[in-house]
Amino acid sequence: MVYDVCIVGTGLWGSAAARHATKSGRKVCLIGPREPTEKERPSRDIFSSHYDAGRNVRKYQGTDHIRSLLTMRTLESLKNLEQITGIKLFSDVGHLFYGKDIDGQLTAIAKEGGRFLSASEVQDLYPFLDTSKYGDQAFLFPQDAGFVNPRLVVAAQQKVAKEQGCDIIDDVVESVEEESYQTDKEAVMKIITKSGNIFWSKKVLLCCGVFTQLKDLLPRDLELDLKVDGTFVVKLELGEEDVARLSTMPTGTSITDPELNCYFLPPIKYPDGKTYMKIGPGYFYQTRLTTLEDVKRWYLSATNQDYVDKLKDIVLSIVKGITPLSVQSETCACSRTSTSLPYCHMVSPRLGLAVGGYGFGAMMSDEIGRMAAKMIGGDENWNMDIPMEKLKARYVTQPAKL
Ligand SMILES: Cc1cc2nc3c(=O)[nH]c(=O)nc-3n(C[C@H](O)[C@H](O)[C@H](O)COP(=O)(O)OP(=O)(O)OC[C@H]3O[C@@H](n4cnc5c(N)ncnc54)[C@H](O)[C@@H]3O)c2cc1C
Repeated sequence: MVYDVCIVGTGLWGSAAARHATKSGRKVCLIGPREPTEKERPSRDIFSSHYDAGRNVRKYQGTDHIRSLLTMRTLESLKNLEQITGIKLFSDVGHLFYGKDIDGQLTAIAKEGGRFLSASEVQDLYPFLDTSKYGDQAFLFPQDAGFVNPRLVVAAQQKVAKEQGCDIIDDVVESVEEESYQTDKEAVMKIITKSGNIFWSKKVLLCCGVFTQLKDLLPRDLELDLKVDGTFVVKLELGEEDVARLSTMPTGTSITDPELNCYFLPPIKYPDGKTYMKIGPGYFYQTRLTTLEDVKRWYLSATNQDYVDKLKDIVLSIVKGITPLSVQSETCACSRTSTSLPYCHMVSPRLGLAVGGYGFGAMMSDEIGRMAAKMIGGDENWNMDIPMEKLKARYVTQPAKL
């Protein structure tokens, strides 16, 4: 049997692509490993950036018009996905940018979605937040901004994809290559998995996040201009009293000194039954990873304690009066494109890719998945009003002929 489309990668983008690709009645499969248990982690080499209970999402990304188009469309679509599946995905708690020169950081369209505040107005609204140390300006998106549960987004996308006929296969793809297929004259893609299965498909869409070029998925001699940064989050476990006190807390991002930048999410209940407030660094304290071994080691390693302490201290200087019961940290990885926009691109007539979240991949996920599904399906207008050139993959090296 030959699939019409094989999507590799069961994360946020691949799962969204699977839902959209199956709307057309095409025969689609989605291949990727399910989330490992703690015990399984050491034996894995492929992980995912969505293993968490909270990801910032908002209608207006803020600083970039094209990203904002992607985030606007994604938020609408995720609200629709909530309705279709009955799975609660989005918490509309608002988002606060604070720090210095916020005005210069927001696009005109983003400014329509909220209002400027001084640091003291922030404190009037949220008595537990003191942003004054980091700058005197803030901008609040009071609605259409907050967080989603990325695990549930993946589950909801896959639920609908499956109902629409998608085969979802729990495996890792080791290689993808184009082959002439038996008696048929038409070339097809051959997909070989870790467990030794072989799948055939007319087209393949790679949605493998940071792992895109760490297995033999791309044509030989092709190297994407795609960097991988190891990053981390710090989680402060909070008791009931603190959770109740922070019940109106929005999500937030600081725009200040790069060394002090961070983002935070309000208290969220995690699968272990405890409630944590999550904090992540801006672009500082990132570790460049180049090989599969590097990425695996990073995912399995503990975060540098100095980084954890530093981030915790920054957040405790903003969120006042809380007493964390414990402090935890987890490692994760982000993909960085040379354009800072996603690459959504046909590498060859039968192989496409969607990669490069740049730390914003959750809030762009559904729209990128939708566009990639259209692109791999051959729809020439998949990019709608976003110039194709902007989303074109950039290469370090490219084979003479694909
Ligand atoms: C700590 C952290 C915090 C973040 N916070 C935010 C945030 O607040 N808001 C936001 O918008 N974004 C955030 N991001 C970014 C966002 O999570 C990613 O951009 C997003 O997950 C990218 O989606 P993806 O589908 O491209 O990659 P992933 O979600 O990583 O999915 C890729 C999938 O491909 C699978 N895969 C890889 N290789 C293979 C293979 N060979 N065979 C089969 N399957 C394979 C993996 O198992 C994985 O499931 C954060 C990222 C990190 C690391």
